[in-house]
Amino acid sequence: MSWEAVIGLEIHVQLKTRTKMFCRCAVGALDAPNTRTCPICLAHPGTLPVPNRQAVEWTIRLGLGLGCEIAEHAVFHRKHYFYPDNPKGYQISQYDEPLCIDGLVRLPGPDGVAEIGITRAHLEEDAAKTLHVGGAEGRIHGATASLVDFNRGGTPLVEIVTEPHIRTADQARRFLQLLRQTVVELGISDAEMEKGSLRFDVNVSVRPAGSDELRTRTELKNMNSFAFAARGIEREIDRQIATYESGGQVEQETLHFDPNREDAPPLRSKEEAEDYRYFPEPDLVPIEPLREWSLEELRGELPESPSARLERVLATGLDLRDAEALNLEPARVTLFETIRDAGVESKAAAAFVLNDVAPQGVDPARVDGAELAKVLRERDQIPRAAFDAAVAASATEGFSADEYLRERTVADTSELDPVIDRILSENEQQVEAYRGGKEGLLGFFVGQVMRETRGKANPKVVNERLREKLAG
Ligand SMILES: [Zn+2]
Repeated sequence: MSWEAVIGLEIHVQLKTRTKMFCRCAVGALDAPNTRTCPICLAHPGTLPVPNRQAVEWTIRLGLGLGCEIAEHAVFHRKHYFYPDNPKGYQISQYDEPLCIDGLVRLPGPDGVAEIGITRAHLEEDAAKTLHVGGAEGRIHGATASLVDFNRGGTPLVEIVTEPHIRTADQARRFLQLLRQTVVELGISDAEMEKGSLRFDVNVSVRPAGSDELRTRTELKNMNSFAFAARGIEREIDRQIATYESGGQVEQETLHFDPNREDAPPLRSKEEAEDYRYFPEPDLVPIEPLREWSLEELRGELPESPSARLERVLATGLDLRDAEALNLEPARVTLFETIRDAGVESKAAAAFVLNDVAPQGVDPARVDGAELAKVLRERDQIPRAAFDAAVAASATEGFSADEYLRERTVADTSELDPVIDRILSENEQQVEAYRGGKEGLLGFFVGQVMRETRGKANPKVVNERLREKLAG
């Protein structure tokens, strides 16, 4: 039997607002421990939360960017659980009336575009951070003490939940990459996994290919990179298939993914919604976005989505890898398109942006693409050093291709032939050896001509003329 995977993602993104979600503490999870706290985010009795307007607006922008409907009426709920990183004993989150629902992200891939549904995107507050010390790897097991840093507690956090529309580990990786770019380009989060401002969990199940049943799923937690996630998902798919094929059943559980281990040890069995005893937060009024914002205005301010941009780049005939590499920066795509519009073929334009411009650390946003395209078109006609210098200088104010094109090499045979003839007559022994079969000597003659012309000879023409004359 052949199997297919059913994968859904839950992504948490910390918003980079200046202040926290329900108090006026500065957001600064990585500042000196417990320096970004106040009675509200430490849950002192009698304090009241006030929602951060910027965080609500940014969540709406994100929802629009993900093609979601924005709720007319959104409610904050209390989600109860006990843990030292949660001083109130509940987290303010959203439950059955989130801000954004029913979105759709187009995910271009090697086999066309997949449509990934977005179930919801809601706004909540982040928990504080516990640090387990004295044990291996900072894990609670084996630790001698646990410390709590409340700086992160109360940071605005958006949770994005996808429909289980993802079918492969690679699709999951590409979706996460696009989503990360979306929030970064919207300017609402730095979305850096190393800093914890982007975190995600993956739900995985398998089923017979072509069926529409949903079997028991497991949840992979603590993914710390997209590449690790893809590996973890692949391993979990294989494990579940092997379990079913040997007559077993998959248990619903949460697995801690550790890239250095072969297995993924279970953490705990998954809580259900009823375990959290959700109820509406009595200290906050519902949010009514349509009364306070013009969605049309917000929609009009959205930048082009990375997904649409990727589709456009792929339509020029590039392979997915190059298209994704270009798409990492909007300015790279703009530069690629300018160079293409100047008459350079897609693959050559992409290779140029990725292999010549990017490695030199040139900011593509500051490059005059039309001028640089002139240099690229004449690449064969100017010395390598002049070409590299032109690329390196292309982001400077007032960059002009002409200066570098003046270095144009000598391709005129009436100028080159006398030099070549002289060199051949001065090196009779080598000429004889070449004609006797030592064709490797061609490089020697080319070198001589280049030296005579101080690097200004066009190597292609020199090679051709030398071959002809030596053959004759
Ligand atoms: Zn505070």
